[in-house]
Amino acid sequence: MRLTVLSGGVGGARFTRGLLALLADRGEPADVTVVANTGDDMWLHGVRVCPDLDTLMYTLGGAVHEEQGWGRRDETSRVSADLAAYGVGWEWFTLGDLDLATHLARTQWLREGLTLSEATARLSARWGLAGQGVRLLPMSDQPVETHVDVGAGEPIHFEEWWVRHRASVPARGFVQVGLAAATAAPGVLESIAAADVVVLPPSNPVVSVGTILAVPGIRDALAITPAAVVGVSPIIGGAPVRGMAAECLAAIGVEATAEAVARHYGRRGAGGVLDAWLVDDADADAAAALARDGWATAATDTLMRDVPATARIAAEALSLVAR
Ligand code: GDP
Ligand code: CA
Repeated sequence: MRLTVLSGGVGGARFTRGLLALLADRGEPADVTVVANTGDDMWLHGVRVCPDLDTLMYTLGGAVHEEQGWGRRDETSRVSADLAAYGVGWEWFTLGDLDLATHLARTQWLREGLTLSEATARLSARWGLAGQGVRLLPMSDQPVETHVDVGAGEPIHFEEWWVRHRASVPARGFVQVGLAAATAAPGVLESIAAADVVVLPPSNPVVSVGTILAVPGIRDALAITPAAVVGVSPIIGGAPVRGMAAECLAAIGVEATAEAVARHYGRRGAGGVLDAWLVDDADADAAAALARDGWATAATDTLMRDVPATARIAAEALSLVAR
């Protein structure tokens, strides 16, 4: 079975790890393409930082800081502390020392003329992704940066809104700088066209999956692929499990409920991208309402407590579109 996952950082990475565990349990060889959001990327201290790509790489490579969900475990932040002593950079954004090595390597390769896809492949090789049957791709090789319209002044970088302000400044909307000129990275459209199943994991529907879907060509590829497309709700009982997805949804006028997010994505054939939607038991009503409108849905415990629990969620998602 060929699978393509359109992923943000922590939610998408944890889901993908569970999906790989499921395939391993079943003795099925994994053939998984993960397309990562790169709208959170930025230049900081002269290096290119790609938060969602790195969260995926560290999580699938067994190096992630488990409780935090992102960054390296056994991490230190001596370099960041010293940069702060010079008064440079964003004191509210800590780059770990080991993490910095990733950004330095990537930046060196980018400066040598490699594309982001090529640099990502080189970084991923160290973490054994190919050996697990995983191909990690950025959504685009062109820089696309999500900026947030906060009303006063110029829009600010997404990371400034998210990390510095903890999304407490109301967002009026999001602007993806560079998007119009961006194209899907090599292999992205092909992987959607050739997949048996495309999965929208429980990632932020606005600034993770929404950004990927906005890359020219990706939404169209989903509309016409013979693959089934299934999503897992990141909203449980009217709130995101972690992070500030509710603030992102509010900015685009979508309620933070499992049903509203499904309707926002929409059904294929009716201008949307999904065939099926898995919600939490707490949202069984949403599943029932969507089912009355012809959606393939089910409710289950969707809290990704650990890898076995997440593998079970992945199994439920795949069973919704099993033919
Ligand atoms: P980010 O880029 O690091 O913000 O990560 P993603 O966009 O991939 O995922 C963030 C989303 O994951 C948030 O909206 C959370 O609600 C959702 N999420 C995190 N943990 C869980 C979980 O255990 N279960 C479900 N259903 N959603 C989760
Ligand atoms: Ca992210």
